[in-house]
Amino acid sequence: MTNCLFCGVAAGTIPADVVLRTDQVVAFRDINPQAPVHLLVIPVAHYRDAGALAAADPLLAGQVIQAAQSAAELQGLTDYRLVFNTGEHAGQSVFHAHAHVLGGRSLTWPPG
Ligand code: AMP
Ligand code: ZN
Repeated sequence: MTNCLFCGVAAGTIPADVVLRTDQVVAFRDINPQAPVHLLVIPVAHYRDAGALAAADPLLAGQVIQAAQSAAELQGLTDYRLVFNTGEHAGQSVFHAHAHVLGGRSLTWPPG
């Protein structure tokens, strides 16, 4: 999709600190980390949010979650938080489905 930041990351035209890549998914470091480890995991294919992704391609949605686990392990994490902000009022600012992987410190609940 043109004018989509994370399509650019997936295509390699937008620079990113990639920690894991397959033909289907990419994991890279968040540019504004909220924890010692803060990764984003995206499908290469464009869907506006996690719900749209899961509805259209549940296998790919599962691959995103599997990649989150693998990327977390590569960073030495056993405990981490997996977050899909969905919609503007839930904090979504980039409308290409992505999972946040947050870890490396104790995390409080509930989130703000
Ligand atoms: P969300 O607010 O849930 O849509 O998450 C979008 C995330 O993308 C935010 O945590 C941003 O810090 C992050 N972000 C924005 N631009 C970039 C970029 N060029 N590279 C890496 N992360 C980015
Ligand atoms: Zn996109």
